[in-house]
Amino acid sequence: MDKQRDFVLRTIEERGVKFVRLWFTDVVGALKSVAIAPAEVEGAFAEGLGIDGSSIEGFTRAFEADVLAHPDPTTFQILPWRGEVDPTARMFCDITTPDGQPAAADPRNVLKRTLAKAADRGFTFYTHPEIEFYLLKSASYGPEGPQPVDQAGYFDNVPGGSAHDFRRSAVRMLEELGISVEFSHHEAGPGQNEIDLRYADALTTADNIMTFRTVVKEVAIEQGVYATFMPKPLANQPGSGMHTHMSLFEGDTNAFFDASGEYQLSKIGRQFVAGILQHAPEITAVTNQYVNSYKRIWGGDEAPSYVTWGHNNRSALMRVPLYKPGKGQSARVEYRGVDSAANPYLAYSLLLAAGLKGIEEGYDLPAEAEDTVWELSESERRALGYKALPSSLDRALGLMEESELVAETLGEQVFNYVLLNKRREWREYRLQVTPYELESNLPIL
Ligand code: GLN
Ligand code: MG
Ligand code: MG
Ligand code: MG
Repeated sequence: MDKQRDFVLRTIEERGVKFVRLWFTDVVGALKSVAIAPAEVEGAFAEGLGIDGSSIEGFTRAFEADVLAHPDPTTFQILPWRGEVDPTARMFCDITTPDGQPAAADPRNVLKRTLAKAADRGFTFYTHPEIEFYLLKSASYGPEGPQPVDQAGYFDNVPGGSAHDFRRSAVRMLEELGISVEFSHHEAGPGQNEIDLRYADALTTADNIMTFRTVVKEVAIEQGVYATFMPKPLANQPGSGMHTHMSLFEGDTNAFFDASGEYQLSKIGRQFVAGILQHAPEITAVTNQYVNSYKRIWGGDEAPSYVTWGHNNRSALMRVPLYKPGKGQSARVEYRGVDSAANPYLAYSLLLAAGLKGIEEGYDLPAEAEDTVWELSESERRALGYKALPSSLDRALGLMEESELVAETLGEQVFNYVLLNKRREWREYRLQVTPYELESNLPIL
């Protein structure tokens, strides 16, 4: 640790860094930043930087108004978009109370605590996200709605297209920040893109997702366009998911791999999938936290609506991807429910907790779904035992409120805050009289 602190202090000196941003995330997943002078960094390492948390989403309980931000030296990076002159760097922080206890409202701490539980059982949790987002001409729009930057589709190569340049700049910037990109491509919607990050331990991945969102927004500004991670920005186009591939390692061994298992998936892997499927509806208020998230889930276009798994089934909520023989280390399972606007720390905490529960309790994996679940009738689905994901944020909150798993994993403060905050969103939404109602009701009623 001290070596890493020394490295940071030396780099600040050698590179002439003028500002150091301390980053942390609030409960809804917004990145927060406070800039300090290089001379303050040593003190921030030693004692933490005092900040007033009272107006930060989720930190609002009076006794946690004063908190300390402790920069994590392993996350030190110079921000490429700030340029070479007077460089700016950043570090992610852990938030504590003044007496040094992890702050209950710090999502990074929720994930660390859940990862520690996995570590007690000998597991390290790795994730890699496929992050989808839209590039729009602008954040503002007229009566025809938001305008995407192009009309291309899935894997289209758009010669001279802005999305191409965009991905190149974004990927280069991510690499400069030490974030490896596996691949990137145009997605199915007009202006929709996807960038997949290389797998890393889940804490690093969650930090990387926060950085990713900032990089993508910054590159968009540079190129005069607007990037959005809204789950369903265009009504008749696909939503933006953040499919996440997951594996558990025991030391150097991938615990999901078994050469003799079906799809080479081990018993632990099967139980992990069973755990997530069992608890999927009750974690959905966190993995899909906006009113708008449910427009994606129920809007078709390959978003999962039913709690099923499969290996080559794009309608399934979970997928067990096939991989090349001899590549046992890349055994993994994919959760397709999470959307691009989720708080990654909280979403990954709940996915891990649900999977671990499946292992602990020895849940049985239900039969694989062979069909395109959307094409079945309601009674066929019922006969096959396929549950639906919640139909709205309101329903999702109702299921979450009853969930011991979610309460235990998030801790009381975050649990209560999410319910309070998201209920408020639902109430505001319910007060709207929408264009749909006016268009369909007003002429005839
Ligand atoms: N956009 C889809 C979703 O919301 C995924 C499409 C895909 O990657 N095949 O989940
Ligand atoms: Mg993909
Ligand atoms: Mg995709
Ligand atoms: Mg996928």
